[in-house]
Amino acid sequence: MEKRLNIVGGGMAGSEAAWQAVNMGVPVTIHEMRPGVETFAHKTGDLAEMVCSNSFRSDDDEANAVGLLHWEMRAADGLIMEMADRHSLPAGGALAVDRDAFSAAVTERLRAHPLVKVEPAEITTLPDDGTWIIATGPLTSGNLAEAIRGVTGQQSLAFFDAIAPIVYADTVDMDTAWLQSRYDKGETEEERTAYLNCPMTRDQYEAFIDALLAADKTEFKPGETAGYFDGCLPIEVMAERGRETLRFGPMKPVGLTNAHQPDVKPYAVVQLRRDNALGTLYNIVGFQTKMKYGAQTEVFRMIPGLEKAGFARLGGIHRNTFLNSPTLLDDRMRLKTHPHIRFAGQITGVEGYVESAAMGLLAGRMAAAQILGRDLPPPPPQTATGALIHHITGGAEAKTFQPMNVNFGLFPPLTDVKGGRRNRKDRYKAYTDRAKADYSAWLAHVPEPA
Ligand SMILES: Cc1cc2nc3c(=O)[nH]c(=O)nc-3n(C[C@H](O)[C@H](O)[C@H](O)COP(=O)(O)OP(=O)(O)OC[C@H]3O[C@@H](n4cnc5c(N)ncnc54)[C@H](O)[C@@H]3O)c2cc1C
Repeated sequence: MEKRLNIVGGGMAGSEAAWQAVNMGVPVTIHEMRPGVETFAHKTGDLAEMVCSNSFRSDDDEANAVGLLHWEMRAADGLIMEMADRHSLPAGGALAVDRDAFSAAVTERLRAHPLVKVEPAEITTLPDDGTWIIATGPLTSGNLAEAIRGVTGQQSLAFFDAIAPIVYADTVDMDTAWLQSRYDKGETEEERTAYLNCPMTRDQYEAFIDALLAADKTEFKPGETAGYFDGCLPIEVMAERGRETLRFGPMKPVGLTNAHQPDVKPYAVVQLRRDNALGTLYNIVGFQTKMKYGAQTEVFRMIPGLEKAGFARLGGIHRNTFLNSPTLLDDRMRLKTHPHIRFAGQITGVEGYVESAAMGLLAGRMAAAQILGRDLPPPPPQTATGALIHHITGGAEAKTFQPMNVNFGLFPPLTDVKGGRRNRKDRYKAYTDRAKADYSAWLAHVPEPA
């Protein structure tokens, strides 16, 4: 019997996965539902369509984690990067592309490959046998989403993200903030100090509410809100419902004592919860928002202790189908309960064109290796690809898991390079040098027989 890899979804992840597999000699069928079945965001029947911006973000592979991911995908002969480079547009330090030429070129290259078949069909059930990658993205069709929910459970597949901003722990001012869980709850010292707390006076709270109400917001796109529910209200919508709503909600000061001023009761408290096992990232609890990015940094830096905060990612609420990968997937991107099925792309809980394509690259190589009787381990967490896969399949907190962009907060910290703003450039260079060496070694490694 022919050993074929089946890929559902010919987007950023599915296209890259297919390219990697055929380059390893494994035949591939891409099952793509467009243009027969449409989504609210895609406009064409092409593979790898860019649904919104035409930017692959920073191309700086020495000081930026996305730029480093570009470097790694180029080193692995990635199709998405090759076509993005070929159809790039002038955009300063960013990699912007001519979107139509880019997706037409990806489509043409894959359709012309003798080992690739493109089947125009919506897949509506999870297959019982064969080797599969599901890369159906944030707008996975309803039928397939229901089938996935059938095997993962209701709570393990989300239809919206509700992303609270994530802050680099080492940019919080600990002369103002302190570590404490509400009512000192927890069995261990680690649990009793699980949150970072930022106190506010009455004047600071009132000014913060004014800024929230005045900030620029983005709107939902037509067709995007189906299924949106009250449980993830944006923080500014809570503030619109009454000036005190937040003080009785996510900013309530009860059960907390300011370690720096124990006698002064804060009027409100902003809490940040640890977001990864490394303890390098903290999310601002309950602060999902539709504020525009520029407004977010301005408003959130009004919070005492966060005046100089660095944001690993800003908040948002979007239509987004994604798995609770930390509980469902193993480190080879396989569904633990159905190991013949891998997931790749945004549905695994990464966010962005580049991150989605990178997860496709990895899943394509892993699946092809498996078909060839080999076992390919993921790249080490010191690399951008490795940091992402380790985060979504293990490092992230499963209970609060939300989609993640690549950022240096996901990397194991460097012990021999000084922290602080002044040393940032050296630190990023050290991260990217270490990643490039480790990624090159991973690429050169020949997978062991399974
Ligand atoms: C509205 C919107 C705007 C976005 N804007 C940006 C942005 O500006 N920049 C950015 O970096 N990221 C953006 N993203 C996030 C994300 O990175 C992109 O959506 C990216 O394309 C995800 O790649 P993917 O391969 O996982 O999914 P996609 O590129 O969406 O590919 C999934 C493919 O699967 C197909 N499919 C779905 N269900 C089935 C099925 N049952 N059977 C067969 N085929 C199926 C779809 O038609 C699609 O072609 C946006 C997302 C959305 C929803």
